Amino acid sequence: MRLFEFAAPKSLEEAYKILSRADADVRALAGGTDLIDQVHQGRRKPSIVMDIKGIPEMKRLAFDREGLHIGAGASCTDIYNFPPVKKNYISIAESAALVGSVQIQNRAGIGGNICNAAPSADTAPSLIVHNARVVIAGPKGQRVLPIEQFFLGPGQNAMAKDEILLGIVVPPPPASSASHYLRFIPREEMDIAVAGVASMVVIDPKSKVCKTARIALASVAPTPVRAKDAEAVLEGHVINEALIREAGEKAINAAKPITDVRGSIEYRKELVKVLTRRTLTKCLETLGNR
Ligand SMILES: Cc1cc2nc3c(=O)[nH]c(=O)nc-3n(C[C@H](O)[C@H](O)[C@H](O)COP(=O)(O)OP(=O)(O)OC[C@H]3O[C@@H](n4cnc5c(N)ncnc54)[C@H](O)[C@@H]3O)c2cc1C
Repeated sequence: MRLFEFAAPKSLEEAYKILSRADADVRALAGGTDLIDQVHQGRRKPSIVMDIKGIPEMKRLAFDREGLHIGAGASCTDIYNFPPVKKNYISIAESAALVGSVQIQNRAGIGGNICNAAPSADTAPSLIVHNARVVIAGPKGQRVLPIEQFFLGPGQNAMAKDEILLGIVVPPPPASSASHYLRFIPREEMDIAVAGVASMVVIDPKSKVCKTARIALASVAPTPVRAKDAEAVLEGHVINEALIREAGEKAINAAKPITDVRGSIEYRKELVKVLTRRTLTKCLETLGNR
């Protein structure tokens, strides 16, 4: 392991000064549940590790007319226990509650989960179906990106060397909508998704027609992906068993999985089909119970 400098700024201004150092390779530290291991194994070799948790903006959790604001340093536990998340963003709550164990969730956050940009990141599909935006900041100012544009490949995100993630903004969920996330792992917990699917549907309460459907997949492509063919099957129709089955089949079109120790290409495609069907069914059940 290479020696590194440790910094713990207490404000964004301090953080930006550190990011401006031309000689430095700065790595932000949120919960550290990915980063510490990566540095230990020599997979990341930062010259400065910058703990962002002392910066007040990074711990923000708020819900207002703009939607849900998740600071990049907010922990999974704080996020899924936040009442507006439990009520309005079920899929986000479900995926945050699947990351590792209780101990991991107390440290790790959604910010770190998406910055790490693993194809298997459990919270990414839920943020995608909820149309989240990421707020990126650095010495040159702030910019906002749709979450789908944030993921460039395994371990690669859209931030420049001198930028950090400030937070995530998730628009208010449309009326009469529901979302769910499911993944498959061979163990009960503490494993990485072989495949994961988040679905979100908006149903007209009178006609029961599906106004919007969003489906996103994890662990079956180099980045999380939208299953747009499956969405098209549902939009404009009253969703029934046959359409759910067809959407499951069409979701496979978006999957470009690899065969590895966790599963084969064929197995992952089958999982996408099954998890798409199950998340859609759960969405309809949730709406029926509201
Ligand atoms: C035992 C164990 C089980 C796990 N199980 C799961 C699981 O079930 N599902 C899952 O998806 N993941 C899992 N993980 C991976 C990890 O816990 C998650 O990805 C977690 O959400 C990372 O969050 P963190 O706050 O710890 O990130 P960190 O480790 O602090 O950071 C992760 C990466 O993002 C960068 N980063 C963090 N914050 C910022 C920022 N604000 N700006 C710019 N870059 C930033 C870091 O530099 C680093 O490269 C597991 C890890 C362990 C050790």
